[in-house]
Amino acid sequence: MQDLTNLVNSGIITLKPYIPGKPIETLKREYALDHIIKLASNENPLGPSPKALISLKQDMQNIHLYPDGDAFYLKSALVEYYPIERQQLTIGNGSDSLLHLIALTYVKPREKIIFSQFGFAMYKIIAQLVNAQAVEIPAKSDWSHDLQAIAAAVDTETKLIFLANPNNPTGTWFSQNELINFLDKIPKHVLVVLDEAYYEYVTEKDYPDSLKLLSSYPNLIISRTFSKIYGLAGLRVAYCIAQAELTDCLNRARLPFNVNSLAQHAATAALTDDAHRKHSLQHNLQQKDYFITQLNQLNLEFIPSIGNFITIKLGENANKFYQQLLEKGIIVRPLTNYSMPEHLRVSFGKADENQQFFKVLKQLL
Ligand SMILES: *Cc1c(COP(=O)(O)O)cnc(C)c1O
Repeated sequence: MQDLTNLVNSGIITLKPYIPGKPIETLKREYALDHIIKLASNENPLGPSPKALISLKQDMQNIHLYPDGDAFYLKSALVEYYPIERQQLTIGNGSDSLLHLIALTYVKPREKIIFSQFGFAMYKIIAQLVNAQAVEIPAKSDWSHDLQAIAAAVDTETKLIFLANPNNPTGTWFSQNELINFLDKIPKHVLVVLDEAYYEYVTEKDYPDSLKLLSSYPNLIISRTFSKIYGLAGLRVAYCIAQAELTDCLNRARLPFNVNSLAQHAATAALTDDAHRKHSLQHNLQQKDYFITQLNQLNLEFIPSIGNFITIKLGENANKFYQQLLEKGIIVRPLTNYSMPEHLRVSFGKADENQQFFKVLKQLL
């Protein structure tokens, strides 16, 4: 009999699939619990934009029709909202799928994809999916991307660099000046993907204004999502912004109906729901303050984060605490797959959920 494993693309053999946060329903089944607090996937605890929900109800009766493959209305809304042009936009089924699409479109087998140690886990998986060489550059001692070392690692085989700003799971970030210094060193035949999944949560003044850099750095691609502050993670919709030439190729390579019609309409409505976005941002800042106060009181080390989550050092008991939290109906994110076995990542939930997390954590400590 033929050995079917030999048929597979070589990159898949060593690929370890992405480990998502444990779904609420799974924990309910496993532990026969009925109330679960999920602080594991950086979702918006306030839920979806109410405007998006209204739009969904209206659009539901049209799901027998194929979606608009060109996402006309969502692109129109984005073009109105940001200083960008329609020809710069690619819409995707979540930013994961866009990051994959970029690699699929541009990276040839054995070319190099560079990313940081502790960088978002999908970067390595995507490199393997396209049979590229995955090059992981050691992070700095504060867990952040070492942009100088990443730039120094670029060689003639390099095609793509993934940067997350802020990064998940560390919450670390780099400034406008650091980004410009970095981009100045990168040859124009190397694409730089700036993953800004948490862009709308950031309030730091020297955070990059990345859209303004697009005209000076034609090799830059910016990726943003409706999964985080907009509260639409379950619908899967995101966009990337790049020069028209790059965008044209990405749109040729993407599948024709890659974003469903409900997702397109909900995202269009959510984008202009300023009230929901501002409320979510305020809530996040408040809950982040609460977390930092509590962590300081408990004398626990954490990595300073500008996202909607924080990574806490719990030492050798981290995995035990993860299990014990599960038993109490609280899902957080273990980071062993990032080689951070002493840390747990916790998303900021609703106020009462966060209080319950600290109540249980104090008992465990
Ligand atoms: C959550 C996250 C994404 C994925 O977002 P989707 O749009 O839901 O695929 C991408 N990058 C980073 C850094 C993230 O944390």
